[in-house]
Amino acid sequence: MINENFLKLSESYLFTEIARKVNAYKEEHPRADIISLGIGDVTQPLAPAVIEALHKATDEMAIATTFRGYGPERGYDFLREAIVQNDFQARGIDIEADEVFVSDGAKSDTGNFQELLSAECVVAVTDPVYPVYIDANTMAGREIVKLPCTAENGFVPELPTGHVDVIYLCYPNNPTGTTLTKEQLKVWVDYAIRENALIFYDAAYEAYIQSEDVPHSIYEIPGAKQCAVEFHSYSKTAGFTGIRCGYTIVPKALSLPLNKLWNRRQSTKFNGTSYLAQRAAEAIYTPEGKQQIKATIAYYMENARMMREALTEMGFKVYGGIDAPYLWVQTPKPHPLTPSPVGEGEPSGMSSWEFFDWMLHSAHVVCTPGVGFGAQGEGYVRLTAFGTHEATTKALKRIEKVL
Ligand SMILES: *Cc1c(COP(=O)(O)O)cnc(C)c1O
Repeated sequence: MINENFLKLSESYLFTEIARKVNAYKEEHPRADIISLGIGDVTQPLAPAVIEALHKATDEMAIATTFRGYGPERGYDFLREAIVQNDFQARGIDIEADEVFVSDGAKSDTGNFQELLSAECVVAVTDPVYPVYIDANTMAGREIVKLPCTAENGFVPELPTGHVDVIYLCYPNNPTGTTLTKEQLKVWVDYAIRENALIFYDAAYEAYIQSEDVPHSIYEIPGAKQCAVEFHSYSKTAGFTGIRCGYTIVPKALSLPLNKLWNRRQSTKFNGTSYLAQRAAEAIYTPEGKQQIKATIAYYMENARMMREALTEMGFKVYGGIDAPYLWVQTPKPHPLTPSPVGEGEPSGMSSWEFFDWMLHSAHVVCTPGVGFGAQGEGYVRLTAFGTHEATTKALKRIEKVL
């Protein structure tokens, strides 16, 4: 017998459908130069400090006296101490090294952590959302409550009307690129304490924050250590999507003994992140490393700025892109000369997929339909700042021309 819960998963057809449409178009128009503003992966190479650390670690592996096999289950001390110092103590947050669990990235940890909780827990997620949270909890057979994030509420989710046990929050947000201020995040910490609920805080885009009042960690909010687990990733911070390294903070002050249970779970099912990846991660905390990854983030954020300005100028309603590499763009009203393929109702703009098709066919630009991230994403597309300046500029010029 299979786990029936897996049959409840919706087909993850978003990126396959995008690829299918792009390939079909390419087949018909082999000479079309298609630019993607939908890239969900970083494109710039690793920082020189990281490369140097990788070479050095590789050389250590070649000699019996410095060779390393299985590492400590929570990660090497050198990395956990660098994390505590740079990501927390430097911001006045008191996190201890044994509250840090080094991982192979935030996808697995945000997906797996729910294993520690009862199947009876009611889970709240934002809509639109990073699909991992929904799918992992669906596999476990949990009830899921959606918290709409719309232009009307400024993409700030409202508290659930009833009790929920777990809330997934991701800020800066993928896909909307929006953030929460400290006050807005405090509302959630207060709710969690009051309701004895747990917050899973995904801080994968923390390094992209430019604004002063946007918290980098939920632990900047008083009381959060009693109610929140926080996930970090070096993927977007330092281009580690192919290296694989991240970490999760599981405070000992939580009302449930999750620090102990997560240690037990990880030591049973996970044999650690490679020594090379951990040395590579350590290198981003050196003065050169910090400066180099900052420069790459600035490069992407310059794309985000160009996109925001140009699209706003063209008359688009654009959200995000200030503290995140994502822009959430409202689709325009259908062009009067194109028949509206949406029969039912009166859409305020084109549907996400109509706009996707229009962009692909007329501008040869690929975006990501917002509806792929949840029902509330209908009428939006997500654009990413992970391209090159050249491709981004070219794509914007083309959109302007075809409008
Ligand atoms: C990219 C991303 C991650 C990071 O995943 P890794 O497994 O660390 O590469 C986590 N959460 C969100 C919302 C993301 O977009």
